[in-house]
Parts: sequence; C-alpha cells; structure tokens
Amino acid sequence: MCLHNTVKCVCGQSEAYLFYRDNILPEETVIEIFCPFCSPTVKVDPNSMIKDVDWIIHYDMDIARFFLKNKGINLEPTPEFLFYEDYCSWYGLSPTDVKDTAELVKELEYLKKASMEMYFYTFKKRRLERIERLKKYGYLKALRA
Ligand SMILES: [Zn+2]
Repeated sequence: MCLHNTVKCVCGQSEAYLFYRDNILPEETVIEIFCPFCSPTVKVDPNSMIKDVDWIIHYDMDIARFFLKNKGINLEPTPEFLFYEDYCSWYGLSPTDVKDTAELVKELEYLKKASMEMYFYTFKKRRLERIERLKKYGYLKALRA
C-alpha cells in the first residue's frame, strides 16, 4: 500500500495529487504547495523545495530525513531525491495526473460500449500524447519517462 492524498496550494485555487512510495514518509513531509497562481512570488530554496514548471513543493527535510533513516535509508535526502524516487512526489507525472486520467476515462466511456479495442487504442494514444505534451512543457517526471 502506498499512501496518497491531495493537497491544496497556498492560494487555494488548485490542488495537487501526491504519492508517498512504500508509505515511508508521512503527509507532514509537505509543508506547502504552490500552484501556477501562487508560485511566481516564491523564492525557491533548493535545499527544501523542488520546482516543476510552475508548481513548487516545499518539503520538511527534517521529517523526511527522520522517517527515511527509520527505514534504514541512511543518506542525506534532497528535494530531488524525494521527488524523483517517489517518496513524496506527484501521483503520476504531473500534479493533476489522477484527475486528468479520470477525466479521460469518462470522456472515452462511450467508446467502451462500441468497441473495447477502439477504447484501449484511443486511451493509449491519448496518454502518450499527453506525456509528449508534458515533456514539451518541461515537467520533470515526464522528461524522465
Ligand atoms: Zn495556488
């Protein structure tokens, strides 16, 4: 079981879907999240924050260090490590991956009844197109996908 949740950003206009690999880090690892509306005025501290296009996650690195160490992961964690190794990261490739996938499923629902093959083909194609789009925007995890 991996823990996941949604976190509202500082200005309250957006929310991000977060994922916690192997349930090692608690939700409290995230101090705050900034969305494209509230991130422009933030001065990014690379020791505790990761910037992904125009979103920012602000981590409590003391909490991260403590809980990782508890599980025998004895390295000095960085925001990049937490983010790329999925210990505390977007659920999927971008902050809204969960919602976007759910919307796509709903949109293509009509195809399911017509043809399952067509459904899977279209679903896969749309997902791939989306990854390409995220790459173009420069989303960090999409760039590594
Ligand atoms: Zn915001």
